[in-house]
Amino acid sequence: MNKQYDVVVIGAGPGGYVAAIRCAQLGLKVACVDEWHNAKGESLLGGTCLNVGCIPSKALLESSHLYAAAQNEFKDHGIGIGKISIDVPAMVARKNKVVQELTQGISALFKANGVDFIHGHARLEQGKKVVVRERGKKKILARLEAENIILAAGSSSVHIDQAPLDQKYIVDSTGALEFDAVPKRLGIIGAGAIGLELGSVWSRLGSEVVLIEAMDEFLSIADQQISRTAFRSYKKQGLDIRINARLLSATVKNKEVHVTYEDNRGAQQVVFDKLIVAVGRKPNSDTMFGDEMELELDERAFIHVNKYCETSVPGIYAIGDLVRGPMLAHKASEEGIMVAERIAGQVSSLNYDHIPSVIYTQPEIAWVGKTEQACEAEAIPVNIGVFPMSASGRARAMGNNEGMVKIIAHKETDRVLGVHIFSAQASELISQAVTAMQMQASAEDIAMTIFAHPTLAESIHEAALAVDKRAIHIKS
Ligand code: FAD
Ligand code: AMP
Repeated sequence: MNKQYDVVVIGAGPGGYVAAIRCAQLGLKVACVDEWHNAKGESLLGGTCLNVGCIPSKALLESSHLYAAAQNEFKDHGIGIGKISIDVPAMVARKNKVVQELTQGISALFKANGVDFIHGHARLEQGKKVVVRERGKKKILARLEAENIILAAGSSSVHIDQAPLDQKYIVDSTGALEFDAVPKRLGIIGAGAIGLELGSVWSRLGSEVVLIEAMDEFLSIADQQISRTAFRSYKKQGLDIRINARLLSATVKNKEVHVTYEDNRGAQQVVFDKLIVAVGRKPNSDTMFGDEMELELDERAFIHVNKYCETSVPGIYAIGDLVRGPMLAHKASEEGIMVAERIAGQVSSLNYDHIPSVIYTQPEIAWVGKTEQACEAEAIPVNIGVFPMSASGRARAMGNNEGMVKIIAHKETDRVLGVHIFSAQASELISQAVTAMQMQASAEDIAMTIFAHPTLAESIHEAALAVDKRAIHIKS
C-alpha cells in the first residue's frame, strides 16, 4: 500500500528541507526522502550545503582566517603570542562538529513541523509514486504517493578523465575538506568560486597554491573591474592563478601528482602533493527517474522548468541545483518556498535578477544584479559610482582596506541595476544592496539613507553618492 501525502519532496538539501518545512507550515501533509548518510549508515540531513559545501567550507575558512591573522596581523596590533602551530585534524574535527550540530538541527525542525522523514534512495514512478530503497539494493523501504512531487536532488562534482580521482592525492571539493595535513604544494583545476575558496583556505594555512584555469578571462561571471582587482590581490597573497591553461593529464607517481596542462606557450608540467579538481557541478538527474516519466531535460541534464519551477509534467516541480540558474543554496531555498506556497494556492514568485553571489576569498567578492559589461552588451546607459575601501575609516581601523564598492545605476531613471563589492565582509554587506534593489531603490534612495559610522557599509553610501559625483571622502 502506498502511503498518501499532499507533497513528497526528494532531497533534504537547502532546497528540499526548506520546501518540506514550508509545506508543513501551510498545513500540507508532507514527506521528505533523502539518502545522504555517514560512514555508519546513519542519515544526515542538509544535503551538499551542510555536509560538504557551504557550511564545512566556511568552518575551515574561519579557522584559516584566525591562523593567518595570528601569524600576520596580531603583531601590528601589539599582540605577541609566541610561536603558533596548526593542528589540522583538530581543525577538521571542529568543522565536523559544526556540521553535525546543524544537520541534527534540521532533524529537530522536521519533527517540530511534522514533516515525515524517510531515509533511503527515492525513485519516481508514473502516477506520482515514489519508491524508496536502500541505495543499490532491491528491498523496498517505503512506497509513497502524492498529488505533488518536489524534486530537490541537488548536484555532484563534475569528474574529468584527465584527472581521475583517487580521493587521496587527487580529490574533489569533498576530499579537500578532509586533508589531514597542510599540503606543501597544492594544485587546483578550475578557478571558479569553489576552487578560489578552497585555494585561499589552504594557502592561508601555508600551502603553495597553483590554480589552473581553462578560460582566458578570470572570473568572467563577475564584474570585470572587480575581477581584475581581485586577481591582483590574490596574486599578491601568493595564489598563482594560471589562466588560459587547459588540463591535459594528472597522474600519481611516488606520492606526487604530476600535472600537464597546455597554455599559449605549449605543454607545461608541474608537480603537486595534492590536486583538487573543482571544474564545476552537474545535476543529479540521472538516477531518480526513468524515461517513462517524460520529464524534459536540457542539454546539460538540468531538469527543464519554467519560472515557477514547474516541470513538463503537471504536479511535478524541480528546484535548486537540479534546474537552471546559479547553483547556490539560497536560490534553492527560495525556490523551495515559492513552490510550497504555489502548491498551497498562494501567489508566490521569485525575482531571479536579485540573487546575490559571493566568493569567499579574503577580501570577499559579492555582487547582485547586472555587471558593467552586461550593461554595455545590452546598450543600457548607466552612471557608475565607485568607492575604494582605502578611504573607509572602519576598513583602515580593521587593517583590511583593500577593494571597493561599485554601484551601477540607470543613467535616466537612477534605478540601481547592480552592486559589486570586493572587500572584507562583502558577503554581509551585499544584503543591503539586495534589499535596496528588491525595493526598486534608486542610487539617490541609498544616498539619502543614513548609515552608522564608522562601518564598512558606509562605503555603499559613498558609492551611491559617487554615482552622482558627490562622494565626500574621495574626490569625485
Ligand atoms: P543538495 O544540497 O545537493 O541536496 C540534495 C540532496 O538530495 C542530497 O542530500 C542528496 O543525498 C539527496 N538525493 C539526491 N538524489 C536522491 C534520491 N534519488 N533519493 C533520495 N535522496 C536523494 N552555495 C552557497 O549558496 N553558498 C556557499 O558558500 C556555497 N559553498 C559551497 C562550497 C562547496 C565546496 C560546494 C560543493 C558547494 C557550495 N555551495 C554554496 C553550493 C550549494 O551547496 C548548493 O547550491 C546547494 O547545496 C544546492 O541545494 P539543493 O537542495 O539543490 O541540493
Ligand atoms: P565553477 O563553474 O564556478 O565551479 O568553476 C569551474 C571552473 O573550472 C570554470 O572556471 C572552468 O572554466 C574551469 N575548468 C573546467 N574544465 C577545466 C579544465 N579541464 N582545465 C582547467 N579548468 C577547467
